[in-house]
Amino acid sequence: MTNYVIGVDLGGTKIFTVLADMHGSICAEIKVPTGAAAGPEKVMERLVNSAAAVRQQCAADPRGLLTVAVGVPGPELDAERGLVYFSNNLGWYDIPLKEILQNELQVPVYVENDANAAALGEHVYGAGSGIDDMVYITVSTGIGGGIIIDRKIYRGVSHGAGEIGHMTIMPDGPQCTCGNTGCLESLASGTAIARAAVELIEQGRGKGILQAAGGRVEDVDARAVAGAAQRGDGEAKMIMSGAARALGIGIANIVNIINPPLVVLGGGVMESRELIWPEMERELRERAFKVPLQNLQLVPAALGSKAGALGAVALALQAVKGEM
Ligand SMILES: [Zn+2]
Repeated sequence: MTNYVIGVDLGGTKIFTVLADMHGSICAEIKVPTGAAAGPEKVMERLVNSAAAVRQQCAADPRGLLTVAVGVPGPELDAERGLVYFSNNLGWYDIPLKEILQNELQVPVYVENDANAAALGEHVYGAGSGIDDMVYITVSTGIGGGIIIDRKIYRGVSHGAGEIGHMTIMPDGPQCTCGNTGCLESLASGTAIARAAVELIEQGRGKGILQAAGGRVEDVDARAVAGAAQRGDGEAKMIMSGAARALGIGIANIVNIINPPLVVLGGGVMESRELIWPEMERELRERAFKVPLQNLQLVPAALGSKAGALGAVALALQAVKGEM
């Protein structure tokens, strides 16, 4: 292999690094713990070491590395300049990621919001393969999104587009991490599902959910709620259905505005798809216009936790080919 690129998904818990040739064929991938608690310098060191490790696995000449793209969790990120103003997952403030990595790696480095990278990953390697336009939504601890138009990430004028999790669904709804109230994320994320359950338990209800969490309120998470719902617990089912409705409303808004041929849904909460999907789809069909709905495919994500790293690879290749 003469020329190649490296894509990195820099997450709060894991750094996932992938090396691919110019055709996008994956040669090596490696996952190491982020170790965010040790500070940004150590994290950067692990990232650079991971890049060296995939290169060695492929016996690739260091001079063949053309570019590196990194997907990073926000919420406050200047992707264009590669600055991380604030990332709660990494515990970072004001880190000039692009500049530091370019100095270390001596190639152009591109920084992208992690959800945008995952959207591109699903578009190129996953559920959106072969389709020009799509919207990706990841429902996890938070809710992220990415819009692909004409096979590229749609970024908006200041790289702020695709914040699907922060569309207002309920004006006087729960407080969101972004400062607004009633965002989709505050109603349908894993955190929102857990919070709704804890509120119920604090009122002396939610016994089935508490039981699913081993009797400890501090262990109540979306997984426990989903587990209780799967066993037929009415309160847990009600919470999951509330999240599903909020998602359905959000997707209906997207469908009416963008009229995409494809919406892809990923993230940890979607692992309990059977609890979410029917109610979500019902709400969507009630609210979105008929013609866009007839032309819409709504599908689960295909790549799981690899979407971000593969998307970073795709982004690096687009950068090399001047297609970004
Ligand atoms: Zn918000």
